[in-house]
Amino acid sequence: MQNNTLNEVTVFTVGGTETALAPVRGRAVRLPNALQTALADRYPEPIARLLGEAMIIGALVVQSLKFDGRLVVQCHGTNEGAVSLLMADCTTQGHIRGYARYDEDTLQSILLDNRNPGADALLGGGTFSMTIDQGSDMDLYQGLAAVEGKRLSDCAEHFFKTSDQIPTMMRLAVGQDIEDGGSIWAGGGMMIQRIAEDDARGETGDVYQTATALMSTVTDAELIDPDLPMETLLYRLFNEEGVHVLDTSSVSADCRCSRERLLNTLESFDAAAIADMADADGNIRAKCEFCDVEFVFPVKDVETA
Ligand SMILES: [Zn+2]
Repeated sequence: MQNNTLNEVTVFTVGGTETALAPVRGRAVRLPNALQTALADRYPEPIARLLGEAMIIGALVVQSLKFDGRLVVQCHGTNEGAVSLLMADCTTQGHIRGYARYDEDTLQSILLDNRNPGADALLGGGTFSMTIDQGSDMDLYQGLAAVEGKRLSDCAEHFFKTSDQIPTMMRLAVGQDIEDGGSIWAGGGMMIQRIAEDDARGETGDVYQTATALMSTVTDAELIDPDLPMETLLYRLFNEEGVHVLDTSSVSADCRCSRERLLNTLESFDAAAIADMADADGNIRAKCEFCDVEFVFPVKDVETA
C-alpha cells in the first residue's frame, strides 16, 4: 500500500547501461504536507507559492551534497518588488524551513496589475543565491544569479549554468490540494543534470537532450499529486531512455531553533544591552522568523558576562 502522505526526495538516473555511468542524474521531490506546516496561514497566496518554490529547490539541491551540511536558498528583492527577502534553509538530513519578508501594501499594488505575479514581479528583480554551509570549520560556497522569469526554477537553472556550468533543467509546482473539505499547501519538483562526458561514460549530450524534451511534458498536477507514486511518474517520463531509482529519503518541515541557543546568544551581550532589549515587564521577547514561535526570557535569567 502506497503511503501518499510521505514527504520524500527520490534520486534517479536516466540512460546508460550501468547506473554508475549514467549520462543524466536527477532528483525529484514530493511534499504532500510538509509545505503546509511551513506556509499555512502565515503568508498571502502569491508569497506562499514563491516560498514553497524556494523550499522545493532547497530540498532538491541539498541532496547533492556529499557531506552533512545545509543549503540556504536566498532571494533579495528590490524596491520595485513586494518581497525583500526569501529564505529556504535545508539540511542534508532533510529538514527544511522557510521565511519570507514582504510588504503588504506593495503586494496589493502589484496584485492590482497582475493577479498572478511570478518571481520576477514579486521580487522586482534582485538576486538569487545558494549558499552551502559545510560546517563551522569550512568555507561557505556561494553563487549568485539574477532573478529573472516567473518561476524560481528559471533562477536556479541560470545559477547552475553560470556558477557550475552544469546543464540543468528544473521544474517546480506548488498548489493547494483539497483535503477533507479544507485545502493544504502541497508541492513537488524535479531536476535533471547532464554528467560531464568521460572515456568510461562516453558522450552524454544526446541522452540529456532527450531527457529534457521528455521532462518538459511533465505537468504541475503530476508533480504535486500525492496519489501518483514518484517512481510511476519517472517511469512514465523516462522509460524509453531507461530510468533507475537509486535512493529515496524523507523530508520534513521543522525548525531547529532552540531556547537554549537563543539564550546563549543573549548571554554574549553585556548587561546594558540586555537591559535595552527588555520590555516594561522585564522580559526579552524573541520570535523565530522561520516558525513564528516566540521565546520569552526574563532579564533576571539572562546571565551576562
Ligand atoms: Zn523556529
